[in-house]
Amino acid sequence: MKPAHLIPCPFYIGGEWAQPRLAGTPVYNPSTGDVISECPLGGSAEVNAAVDAAEAAFPAWRDTPAIERARYLFRYRHLVEENFDRLCASVSLEHGKTLVESRGSLYRGIENIEYACGAPTLLFGDTLENMARNVDCETTLQPLGVCVGITPFNFPAMVPLWMFPLAIACGNTFVLKPSEKVPLTAVLLVELLAQSGLPKGVVNVVHGGSECVDALLVHPRVRAVSFVGSSPVAKHIYDTATRHGKRVQANGGAKNHIIVMPDADLPRSVEALASAAFGCAGERCMAGSTAIAVGKAGDAMLPQLVDAARSVKIGRTDTPMSQPDMGPLITGAHRDRVRGLVDSGEREGARIACDGRDARVADAPNGFYLGATVIDHVSEAMTIAREEVFGPVLNVMRMEDLDQAIEAANRSAYGNGASIFTSSGAAARTFKHRVKAGMVGINVGVPATMAMFPFTGWDASFYGDLHIQGREAVQFYTQQKTVTTRWFGGSSDDVWRK
Ligand code: NAD
Repeated sequence: MKPAHLIPCPFYIGGEWAQPRLAGTPVYNPSTGDVISECPLGGSAEVNAAVDAAEAAFPAWRDTPAIERARYLFRYRHLVEENFDRLCASVSLEHGKTLVESRGSLYRGIENIEYACGAPTLLFGDTLENMARNVDCETTLQPLGVCVGITPFNFPAMVPLWMFPLAIACGNTFVLKPSEKVPLTAVLLVELLAQSGLPKGVVNVVHGGSECVDALLVHPRVRAVSFVGSSPVAKHIYDTATRHGKRVQANGGAKNHIIVMPDADLPRSVEALASAAFGCAGERCMAGSTAIAVGKAGDAMLPQLVDAARSVKIGRTDTPMSQPDMGPLITGAHRDRVRGLVDSGEREGARIACDGRDARVADAPNGFYLGATVIDHVSEAMTIAREEVFGPVLNVMRMEDLDQAIEAANRSAYGNGASIFTSSGAAARTFKHRVKAGMVGINVGVPATMAMFPFTGWDASFYGDLHIQGREAVQFYTQQKTVTTRWFGGSSDDVWRK
């Protein structure tokens, strides 16, 4: 059923909101399957206008002192807090996260604004007096110019907040291209930015799909591209944008392994595993999607895992009245893909220990639901073991010892996160030293980093050199200048005399 009024999804270019008459793509409420908006699909005309606006705003913004730029971000942080419930409701409506999950993700986003508020100290350079005789040297960090952010559907508020607050704190201007599946929260975030009094053109929003993205990647005035999404697209972004001379950080997909040793605290490990696998309906790049049970840990934990999966209550997330443990998946097509991957596991010889494929929600028969699913005896060659599932599905693989488990995890093409549950310091140390993943957890199910640390994916989970968040992101959004200075006629003969 199509509601009478669709939620507007305007572009924001040079401080003006406009919804051009363009072909669009439906935005769903995944809890009910209803269309709630239409996301216009922009192309090079809209991209050119947004980049022009960002470029025009750059000189004045670059010359605004860092402490003044930070003041806008302090005001922005306050506005986001004031509108916290409205933003969370928007995330839950268009994405399907439970309100608890939406709140958690928005806090992570706010922490990124808070980090960016530190611009005056984050942008300190280095100085060496007398680098050579009577010659001093200093480094300064200067902004790049127009930066671009291209974001995925799974964190409608947090991922955009990973990018534009720090980019503009560093003195850049910005063009955001949110996911066409969840563009509405991004619009709200930028509305609040406009309310903070940010000068026009410093942040702009264009909507669209691949045509819009490709126009951004080749635009001669774009200096840097931050991307978060699936690995094939991340690779395309990296290849195309670097070929066109841009700096790129491109986060990709993942397949994160969690090793459970026989000496692990079992109840706590199971609780963490269930939360890592089924939290956000498994639509997280840091989801713990594969448990590797070592030795007797497998038989010990499986019944508890199945109980935990069966107890996950699914339901609508679009109303505060009904708050389930887990919401729907993003679209019907994605739900069907995840179902198909579970089917493939069964076909290829795994055992479905808890089957969520036929889950239904009585008051929302057209919502995009799938119940929590546990698949036991998964082997590495199976499709479900190799492909990113991005749904509430936990694979269980069984291994004889820690070495085998680490080697299996290391054969994954991805390298985002990996965790171990154990009470042995020696096992934990071996694991953290040898595992090929950029974010490692020890008795932690989702070792996603917070704003002050970089989000250090490896291998097919990241294309680029400088990661999103933390000091690496400051480096990404700035270029260093070294200034070597010598003044003639100065004397330092009496410098130590009082
Ligand atoms: P996606 O790759 O389909 O889309 C991401 C963005 O790229 C969107 O804005 C989309 O419009 C654009 N896009 C899609 N196809 C394109 C193409 N062919 N050419 C140019 N642009 C294109 O990803 P998604 O489905 O929105 O998000 C889920 C994926 O994101 C998962 O793989 C997940 O693991 C990943 N993700 C990774 C991280 C991380 O930090 N590593 C964080 C969140 C999500």
